[in-house]
Amino acid sequence: MMDVSDFSLPFGCADAGAHALDSDFVRDQLVPRTVDLNGKTYRPDGEYVLYWMQSTHRLDENWGLRAAIRTANRVNLPVVVHQGLDPTYPHASDRHHTFILQGARDTARHAGQLGLHYQFVLRRRRDDDRRVLDRLAARAYVVFTDLFPTAGVRERTERLAERVHCRVLAVDSVCTVPSGTFTKPEFAARTIRPKIAKLLNVALEPVRDELPRVALTDTLRASLRDTIAAGGGLVPLPLAGMSDEEIAHEVAQCEIDHAVPAVSQRGGSVAALERCVQFMRGGLPHYDEQRNEAGNGEGTSRLSPYLHYGQIASGRVLREARARRGDVGASDADLEAFVQQVTTWRELSFNWCVRTRHFDRLSSLPDWVQRTMAEHVNDPRPQRYPLEDLESATTGDRLWNASQHELVSQGIIHNYPRMLWGKTILLWTENYEQARTWMFHLNDKYALDGRDPNSVGGIMWCLGLWDRPWGNKPVWGGIRPMVTHRAKLKFDVEGYIARVRGTRLI
Ligand SMILES: Cc1cc2nc3c(=O)[nH]c(=O)nc-3n(C[C@H](O)[C@H](O)[C@H](O)COP(=O)(O)OP(=O)(O)OC[C@H]3O[C@@H](n4cnc5c(N)ncnc54)[C@H](O)[C@@H]3O)c2cc1C
Repeated sequence: MMDVSDFSLPFGCADAGAHALDSDFVRDQLVPRTVDLNGKTYRPDGEYVLYWMQSTHRLDENWGLRAAIRTANRVNLPVVVHQGLDPTYPHASDRHHTFILQGARDTARHAGQLGLHYQFVLRRRRDDDRRVLDRLAARAYVVFTDLFPTAGVRERTERLAERVHCRVLAVDSVCTVPSGTFTKPEFAARTIRPKIAKLLNVALEPVRDELPRVALTDTLRASLRDTIAAGGGLVPLPLAGMSDEEIAHEVAQCEIDHAVPAVSQRGGSVAALERCVQFMRGGLPHYDEQRNEAGNGEGTSRLSPYLHYGQIASGRVLREARARRGDVGASDADLEAFVQQVTTWRELSFNWCVRTRHFDRLSSLPDWVQRTMAEHVNDPRPQRYPLEDLESATTGDRLWNASQHELVSQGIIHNYPRMLWGKTILLWTENYEQARTWMFHLNDKYALDGRDPNSVGGIMWCLGLWDRPWGNKPVWGGIRPMVTHRAKLKFDVEGYIARVRGTRLI
């Protein structure tokens, strides 16, 4: 079995759906997006092509679905799009469940418009039947799914690939430039930036989404329902017609953490596109100058939760930015700064997680960081707080508390205070390992965009990843220091505290 965290990740297996393609461009994009996870054969008696939607919660610009449809059309089979939600993923809470279910409702409605078969199965309790997917996969010609290194997706996919008898292919729909293009871990933004820049225009060419040529028969539909129900009576959720209240009711039935409530930011591809267009009008025209201005919070897109759940494609966001920049009066510098965040930094994080075996461990940090940590691990910390004080935003630092408050109440922290938030945890914990663990715990528990390759990139950057040595200070060693008391030189700190404190802490 292939390990998707392996350096030698075999992107581009020759028949990774590519035999079904009729356009050179799509083939060129699909091959370096696709990984064969088990080397098994296509099942000749398969009844459909299964696309298992895990981290790309949309139907447009979804490369896994594209590969599934093109393969199905070639072999004259229908396509089944299956999404499930379990109560068992790390930090499962009302916050994530609500955002995911709101997104799935948009997907269900979109599927209805396209005539695609989409089914969503909710396992409410840990004891509920956990073999729905296995039974569906047992009838499939091939399974396509999403390539995603974090949030447990990689492990779930590997386990399925081992268990089932047909081929399982994972396809990257995260990156604008296919991640398989870069066969090694990139060591800094400066190394991946020019490579992405060279390929970006081609990667952004729009690709027409095909539809399946073979529709599901009523008999197959009915037998799929039976297959789903066979192990304990689960049935697909009728999401397309569900109200917000009905979604909240479903979430309340689930065996998850109800102490982390839903936030006001709405999930789904409709809200994602609205947010994107709103940002193009308001934020993009000043992005270069205003993106660090956490005081008003309007300088950045707040698209990261939608990008994390794949409710909008990064390519779509970038094409919108390019198309609208003239109308909204954004400068070259504004556009370029935004493109850099969405491509270089985001795709560097994805590359890191896909190409590094222990991407979220201290042991994966560069040698100079290992040396500096070893030298400074026993330095006395200026302040120590228990995790509860951090979690409840009750430290002695008003700015830090405000950023933790923003995280807990809104499910996100503005990027500039987020860097300070992470860096400060280094000063307040027993050692680097505790700092790392607590950063992941707090970020992934509360952030809607948490458990993402960017979570790993951001947290590991706080610990020295992709950076160079910066002098030699107590506790920091050579790691780039950032301290909250200098933040007022960068943004309106009092404005930020006032803005964030206006929201209710749970
Ligand atoms: C300690 C720490 C933890 C972080 N945890 C996460 C996380 O859990 N999830 C997450 O998506 N990002 C994380 N980041 C990166 C960054 O803070 C967020 O991506 C960004 O603030 C999201 O806000 P936005 O959508 O308004 O960004 P915008 O400025 O509007 O940028 C647009 C998009 O570009 C990408 N982007 C922007 N900045 C970065 C960056 N520094 N690194 C990688 N991609 C970037 C994001 O996808 C973002 O949505 C973290 C950073 C730090 C320092």
